Amino acid sequence: MRMNTLSRSKQTNSTSTSSRINTYLILIVLVVLALSIVALFVAAQVLLTGDTITAGLFAGIGLIAMAMCVFLLFQSRKQTAEVKLDIPKVMTIIECQNKGCANKTTREFQRGDYVFKDLDVACGKCGGKQMITGIYKEVKEKEKTYAV
Ligand SMILES: [Zn+2]
Repeated sequence: MRMNTLSRSKQTNSTSTSSRINTYLILIVLVVLALSIVALFVAAQVLLTGDTITAGLFAGIGLIAMAMCVFLLFQSRKQTAEVKLDIPKVMTIIECQNKGCANKTTREFQRGDYVFKDLDVACGKCGGKQMITGIYKEVKEKEKTYAV
């Protein structure tokens, strides 16, 4: 019983970690950012006493910590943007088989779609038979068509 609950809690943890990483990262960045600001303040205070070496040391620590924060934030933002781009939309092209109409429509790909498949849904314009004439993956820059 004990083992069972343990493994179950582990499983739920692993599924939610990917979304938690970002919030942890932001927390760490905020703490380091606060510390770097404190270091810069200390540097300014030490500089007033005339100890330039210690002031420079604190200023250096503050600046490096701040640069790290900016880098981490930039890196995490870049990653989330890439993930969003990696989900392409698959579209299905439907054409009316009535030569006088030839109404062309596109909709999101549905399971069981294939090229040259006759559809039960009638054309919205003339009520004629419709057929799938193409299935393509939507790409942001270029529209690549894999139609036969
Ligand atoms: Zn039609």
